[in-house]
Amino acid sequence: MYAIKRELKLNNQEKSFFAGCAGFSRFVYNHGLSLLHTTWDIPEISGSDSKRLDAIKKVFTNITKKQREYLWTNKYSSRIYQNAFRDLKKAFSRGRDTKIKAELPRFKKKKHNCSFTVDSSHGKVLVQEGKKIKIPTLGTFRLKESIPYNCVSQTFTISREAGKWYVSFAVSASYIPEMKHSYKKVGIDLGIKTFATLSDGKTFESPSSIKKAKTKLGKIQWRNRNKVLGNRRSGISASKNAVKYYQKLRKKHKRITNIREDFLQKTTTLLAKTYQHILVEDLNIKGMMANHKLSDALSNLGLYRFRELLSYKQECFGFLLTIVDRWFPSSKTCSVCGNIQDMPLCERVYHCQNCGQVMDRDLNASINLENWTSNADGLSVNPERSRRVNACGLEGAVSLG
Ligand SMILES: [Zn+2]
Repeated sequence: MYAIKRELKLNNQEKSFFAGCAGFSRFVYNHGLSLLHTTWDIPEISGSDSKRLDAIKKVFTNITKKQREYLWTNKYSSRIYQNAFRDLKKAFSRGRDTKIKAELPRFKKKKHNCSFTVDSSHGKVLVQEGKKIKIPTLGTFRLKESIPYNCVSQTFTISREAGKWYVSFAVSASYIPEMKHSYKKVGIDLGIKTFATLSDGKTFESPSSIKKAKTKLGKIQWRNRNKVLGNRRSGISASKNAVKYYQKLRKKHKRITNIREDFLQKTTTLLAKTYQHILVEDLNIKGMMANHKLSDALSNLGLYRFRELLSYKQECFGFLLTIVDRWFPSSKTCSVCGNIQDMPLCERVYHCQNCGQVMDRDLNASINLENWTSNADGLSVNPERSRRVNACGLEGAVSLG
């Protein structure tokens, strides 16, 4: 099972139609939520959230929708409100689940990214390959990028992100992992300076265009530092320039996300196709984010997303992914003799106090990750391997003392 997401190519009429659909979905969601809130403290009405939501939905279908002030709701597909209720129910069951630790649903706001879902009530429908898509109950729309093959799906979600409209749907198909005749094992050290250092000496730098886009973003944020998007409480409405600025800001943020996502997708696919066994460190992301100097750099990189993508691509490409224990001292250990010494973050080169080895900090860590085994010591030092790496002509000479 995987999802296909495509940008829609819409004219103004279609755009405002979709905005209306999203508004209808948001209205139903908020309506259901507020009714649920008001029945919360009435002891006579018992039952779980989902039972009460079912009752609210019945009232909405049979009474509310038929009232004069709500006649506009009949302009839109009934699948929209069915799915809005379904989303609300799901949000509540997630919120009540103690394992997930999700928050209870809140009211949706117009200014946030909006979306709505429709489905076909007659089961799965065929989605034909090409640059057009037929969405059940809504019609046929043009796409910016074509769908590569015929597939079937039942539920379609349409969303607006930074002024652009997208359609996404799940396809129940799976990749067939290629048969690989070689066995390549690799340790990967993720870092701030170099995005990923592989134990065979390869490195991946995060794209420089992110830094450029970030600088541009910072500039326009500084120039518009006094703009306020209205304040309902004090009765100030948003100026046209403020609205324009916030739209622009959303686009800039989206661009940065897009660059990062593209880089991460391409890197993880390349890794998944090349190696059969990948070892990465279990990052203490929350602990690292608490350090506010590190947190900005880390959130820019998307290290967590990198791991997420690797573990999901593991299924598609059939390689083995090992998450190395968080407390394993990968950067403090010498990859040649196993000596452990302190390594402050500023030190970029590993000088071993025991055997005199000199090696790039990240490379040393990645070799340790590759050699990691799950036994008590956590490490099987393999000098043979370190010498081989050095023989490939990498920086940092191994001088055995
Ligand atoms: Zn050493």
